[in-house]
Amino acid sequence: MEAVLPIMSQFPEIETCVECSAKNLKNISELFYYAQKAVLHPTAPLYDPEAKQQMSCFGHPLAPQALEDVKVVVSKNVAGGVRDDRLTLDGFLFLNMLFIQRGRHETTWTILRRFGYGDSLELTANYLCPPLRVPPGCSTELNHRGYQFVQRMFEKHDQDRDGALSPAELQSLFSVFPAAPWGPQLPRTVRTEAGRLPLHGYLCQWTLVTYLDVQHCLEHLGYLGFPTLCEQDSQAHAITVTREKRLDQEKGQTQRNVFLCKVVGARGVGKSSFLQAFLGHGLGVSDAGEPAGEPSAYTIDTVQVNGQEKYLILCEVGADSLLTASADATCDIACLMFDSSHPRSFSLCASVYKRHYMDKQTPCLFVSSKADLPEGVLLPGLSPTEFCRRHRLPAPALFSCAGPAEPRAAIFTRLATMAAFPHLVHGELHATSFWHRVALGAVGAAVAAVLSFSLYRVLVKSR
Ligand code: CA
Repeated sequence: MEAVLPIMSQFPEIETCVECSAKNLKNISELFYYAQKAVLHPTAPLYDPEAKQQMSCFGHPLAPQALEDVKVVVSKNVAGGVRDDRLTLDGFLFLNMLFIQRGRHETTWTILRRFGYGDSLELTANYLCPPLRVPPGCSTELNHRGYQFVQRMFEKHDQDRDGALSPAELQSLFSVFPAAPWGPQLPRTVRTEAGRLPLHGYLCQWTLVTYLDVQHCLEHLGYLGFPTLCEQDSQAHAITVTREKRLDQEKGQTQRNVFLCKVVGARGVGKSSFLQAFLGHGLGVSDAGEPAGEPSAYTIDTVQVNGQEKYLILCEVGADSLLTASADATCDIACLMFDSSHPRSFSLCASVYKRHYMDKQTPCLFVSSKADLPEGVLLPGLSPTEFCRRHRLPAPALFSCAGPAEPRAAIFTRLATMAAFPHLVHGELHATSFWHRVALGAVGAAVAAVLSFSLYRVLVKSR
């Protein structure tokens, strides 16, 4: 003891000393027990023996039988450790300090590991990135449980209950993330109101992240504590993986709620203005019209398709980039945008169409932007209208950012409707049969609604 004590006091990282003898087999099993414990449940990250302070901890539900005893011990030792018959954070931290001081730090480790923390007290990759299989041709959406959870988080941080997150409230939501998950593009990606994020825009942003980058979505749900708060074994339970698009096309219907529209066009054709018009922003060069934030390649909002609310994502894509070898033109609807005062911008769109969309797997709409400006000199070759007729495409739609908002919105509904009925080939979109089939689709949706309602009732009864 005389030899060991000074060493122990000099080196606080020494957790245990055991007097043992290989000759007499004294304390040999104890030696291995403490050695193993020092590796599996080390004290150091949890507790600083010098300062006698715990460094970090996290929540844990206690066994009911021990609960009363625990509260008595805590309330005797910590002022304010128990309030309204509930353990406070101070009380809880004291309790864990007690565990550690009495050599039961495996209890604290068990708690931390249960909540996803690893040896360095960071959330582990296993917790943050649970397995989720997304086969090619499928997309990812938040399901009912997912939306309910993110809405609950919104309500928790909307402290003044005005239905929108102010910058300070958003910061409070982000406080559990290692870095702010959404960047300065937010005001140009979803609808915001005077620098605040209303619930609608917030849900749109979650929908966008889930669709484009489901791994990040799972991570974000993990930071917010989805598995614990929703009593699920992983965040994957917040996600629906839709069926393959090919099957949607074969069956002639889709259960998807989120559609991706690529807005393809030459530089300067007005893609960004088109994306911003979707959020209700006018052709804003004035201070009043110019939305805050950085430019965004995506915008997302909801549109009504047959009386059902669907999310439509617009993604801006340079026409040139779709003419390179590795181009990815996959989407639910292609919006090929040209400037009627610059005929060359049309020939670029025509090339993109011939390269990617001639097989009619993806519905296409040609859109003539800046429709308020006079038409330019026509180049030799087919006019846009003639081109669309020859390829059995709908006639080019006219769009102008300069006009009033209401007629502008119609084009977004049209794009979403075309995306929602992927089985319809281009030619039919023109014909009356299209609207007939749209109407049939509405009947189908009503039948599905009745079915899911009765299913819901059965579930409620059997609970
Ligand atoms: Ca608020």
